[in-house]
Amino acid sequence: MSSDIRPGEVQAELPDRTDARLVFIGRIHTPFKTRADCPRQGRKDGPICTIEIDEPWRAALTGLEDYKLIEVLYWLHQSRRDLVIQAPGKDGVKFGTFALRSPVRPNPIATSMVEVVSVSHESGLILVQGLDCLDGTPLIDVKPDRCAFTPKADPKPGDSMVAAS
Ligand code: SAM
Repeated sequence: MSSDIRPGEVQAELPDRTDARLVFIGRIHTPFKTRADCPRQGRKDGPICTIEIDEPWRAALTGLEDYKLIEVLYWLHQSRRDLVIQAPGKDGVKFGTFALRSPVRPNPIATSMVEVVSVSHESGLILVQGLDCLDGTPLIDVKPDRCAFTPKADPKPGDSMVAAS
């Protein structure tokens, strides 16, 4: 974790307890070896990166090959987690953490929509373009693009609920 703090940035005291037990399901391999090397957001024509799914999660890839675009959730493991106000630019202008997509956040979860190049169930490897993370970043989840996805289960009453007028 970087301990750098810029003028005007505000730190919060981190609680000693945690609320959820995340399971990392694999790692992401990218050509980006330092945070300075990483793009701020991945690009669809960016380098091909490898998402490596651990056993026993490889069976969970079944059907993923139907999607050209997938959402990847990952854990920015080298991020500090205690800033509530950040000054990301050279101009010193400040923003609240929840108004930014900064890696510095209480739970450093990142998401990217990426283009699928290939999916291999046997090896547990998904090749994609569009990532922005360090080589070795822990993987949290993989989901189909929500626009291309049709729910496989029956509709529920809440699906058609709208605001009262
Ligand atoms: N696309 C994601 C999002 O919007 O949720 C992440 C965006 S964040 C601005 C991407 C930046 O996080 C990179 O440019 C790099 O500086 C930093 N980063 C990448 N991998 C990281 C890691 N494993 N730990 C900490 N910081 C990381």
